[in-house]
Amino acid sequence: MTGDALTDRILLSAPHMGGGERDLVTEVFDTNWIAPTGPMVDRFERDLERLTGIGHVAALSSGTAALHLALRLVGVVPGDAVWGSTMTFIGGVAPILYLGGVPVFVDIEDEMFLIDCDLLERALIEAEWEGALPRVVITTDLYGHVVDAVRMRGLADRFGFAWISDAAEAVGGYRDGRHAGHGADYAILSFNGNKIITTSGGGALASPDGEAIARARFLSTQARDPAPHYEHTTTGYNYRLSNVCAAIGVGQLTVLAERVDRRRAIHALYRELIGDLPGVRLSPEATGMRANRWLTTIRIDPATAGTDREVVRLALDAAGIEARPLWKPMHAQPVFATARAIGGSVADRCFAQGLCLPSGSAMTDADVARVAGVVRDLIRTA
Ligand SMILES: *Cc1c(COP(=O)(O)O)cnc(C)c1O
Repeated sequence: MTGDALTDRILLSAPHMGGGERDLVTEVFDTNWIAPTGPMVDRFERDLERLTGIGHVAALSSGTAALHLALRLVGVVPGDAVWGSTMTFIGGVAPILYLGGVPVFVDIEDEMFLIDCDLLERALIEAEWEGALPRVVITTDLYGHVVDAVRMRGLADRFGFAWISDAAEAVGGYRDGRHAGHGADYAILSFNGNKIITTSGGGALASPDGEAIARARFLSTQARDPAPHYEHTTTGYNYRLSNVCAAIGVGQLTVLAERVDRRRAIHALYRELIGDLPGVRLSPEATGMRANRWLTTIRIDPATAGTDREVVRLALDAAGIEARPLWKPMHAQPVFATARAIGGSVADRCFAQGLCLPSGSAMTDADVARVAGVVRDLIRTA
């Protein structure tokens, strides 16, 4: 993963173990807690509660599972409108369909790819006149930028929707001193292999509502009623995090602050090396925001840069560097061809111009310089 040799491929975001994880997994083996649930799961949940400042956390098998449970706990039933940011990963949307909800995609602002709160507010006012307010609004803390929780909480209280914060990409990110997801009715975290910290696969659901999280634990373990035999008054899911994976998570949380610092340093180095190029810009941080900089993204305006993001992406690929376009907006996905969209042109433009650069915390400064060099050469010679 380090790029000393020119033949090493530089990956977008490779897992980066801290060293303590192996001992914690050994502890799990030594005590034979090789099960979904167990003491490491409990410990991971307490650690996540401490990190986020959100009262209650259930550790789950994925972020997608966490969103599914959040929507179920909110009580989404077939036909309910669920609004959400159009620029996101499919795992932050697909669970709406599991419950028969009807997704509506809202455009983003142009700088940090967060849901456009002004547009959202106007659309909510209109929906209120029409008596068609959404049941749920999902915001997405894209690439570790964090939405304005005060603004969103205000909208949620005023219009009476449940606010679900998809903070899957923003673990360790803050705004106004609060961790991503804080203030929402539910927050989703992910520990998938490419995220800022990983349990190899895993996620969590956080909420200030302790009863809801207790219910999430119940639903995530097949909804077994208390009885010596298997008794069910409802059906659930097999969504609990394995105790083995939780051990990795406990170890990863001890190095999260370092991981964020490193990703932020990588971002700063990119900014120094390519931020001055014509037609190239990096995403800013709103006042009071401390993004985790999970992935550094650049926007390439072809009119000024003289080249476009696909040319740059292919050149990076040829140089052994993995880069990827931004998430393709959901309103532009074939599977959602008939879904309603509230705006979308900003997201379309961000998708057309945006590129995610390798940002893994194990990258060396030399790796970053190698990536930046390819970008510089292309734009200089364009
Ligand atoms: C990764 C991710 C998810 C889903 O998390 P998994 O743990 O992979 O299921 C959801 N939303 C966003 C924005 C993500 O990046």
